[in-house]
Amino acid sequence: MASQLSLARFVQRAVRGVKRPQSRALSSLLVQSQPKLASLPHFPVIKILPTSQDDNEITAVLSMRALTRLLTMLENPSPGAGLAAPPENSCFSFTSIPGKGIGMIATTRISPGDLILSERPVLVLPQNLKASYGVDPHPVHEVWPLLSSNQREKIESLRNAFASRETLLVNPETWSKIGLISTNALNARLPVATENGKEDYAGIFPSIARCNHSPNAMYDFNPKTFSASLIATSPIEDAEEITITYIDPCLSQSARKALLLESYDFECECPACVSSDIASSDRRRMRISNFMDHLEVPSQKNEFKDDIIPYPNVALTHPSTTPSILRRVVYVADAIFRLIEEEGLHALIPSSPIYQVVERAAFASVLLGDKDVFDIWSRQASIYSRTARWMHNGKPLLSEDQWEQAFNDPEAYFATWGRNSDS
Ligand SMILES: [Zn+2]
Repeated sequence: MASQLSLARFVQRAVRGVKRPQSRALSSLLVQSQPKLASLPHFPVIKILPTSQDDNEITAVLSMRALTRLLTMLENPSPGAGLAAPPENSCFSFTSIPGKGIGMIATTRISPGDLILSERPVLVLPQNLKASYGVDPHPVHEVWPLLSSNQREKIESLRNAFASRETLLVNPETWSKIGLISTNALNARLPVATENGKEDYAGIFPSIARCNHSPNAMYDFNPKTFSASLIATSPIEDAEEITITYIDPCLSQSARKALLLESYDFECECPACVSSDIASSDRRRMRISNFMDHLEVPSQKNEFKDDIIPYPNVALTHPSTTPSILRRVVYVADAIFRLIEEEGLHALIPSSPIYQVVERAAFASVLLGDKDVFDIWSRQASIYSRTARWMHNGKPLLSEDQWEQAFNDPEAYFATWGRNSDS
């Protein structure tokens, strides 16, 4: 039905269905008069206007389904908590870094869980566009004239890893645009279910795109505010570079190197890639990856045989939860966290099952009444709570403030302190 309506009427209709006071503001932010792309006729091109000077104007090429979802989901047309910090408060600057182009540098000390910035994309496109090389006219070529000069400048100032490569499939002008998008686009996932799984989108976030690869920070795209947050995951010192990971960091060093060279055209020189003991690093990363997939770690004595320790995924409050199960919860958290620390992959914790393991270790220590263990895991759980404030699906069990209160006197804070004590 929707595809037979004009886009303007469709948007009006969808917005009327949004029972939120913002719907009026939202419809006024959407400019509906964008011409259709001949190459993607069923993907309306919409514009979301900036809400402040620091905000980006967004041009998005979305399916009708994604657009409907967006209209019913956007909680707030403004990018929400912590849009790009005003310049006087910002904690970063952009600097040329030898061999790496322009990067993002901290201008003060940043703690894990701090928001570095939040920004909206200038351009959002279906994720698989870059695969459709043979299409003519190419959607990327068609969308370019629809961008404002400001949007174009922001994208064209970024690095193009494909600049020196050639393809016979598209003309050089289109190829350079595809290269810019392929080098810089980050996932902008909208919760749109289709018959074949999900639709994925990618966006150009001009500031976050400056982050080089390695990770001491992570980004999180919030479909409800249509903005991405860049959040520190490790302590970042003044003048240190702020980095995110471009690829799955649990791949082996050789696989990472090949992928980064192929997709981003650079030789990674992060500590793990230039380590003198790559085999051990690869093993640790494989163990982290296995753990995230299966929630089990190899026991120390018999690392790569069948002797693995599954994570005891029982309700901690269940009567059958014995002290030995609680000790195992802590043991597994300890084992996985050691690997994370050795590889400096704290950026993996917030968006993987590992944060739950951390929180559960803290709660296991409460039931055990073990103050030493509680000190360790409540601190780590509190870092997750700080981080989760900026994540669109962050669900910490306790807030940072609650952990703060609990640190001082856990016995008084938790009614269950020491209930399953093993002594
Ligand atoms: Zn590396």
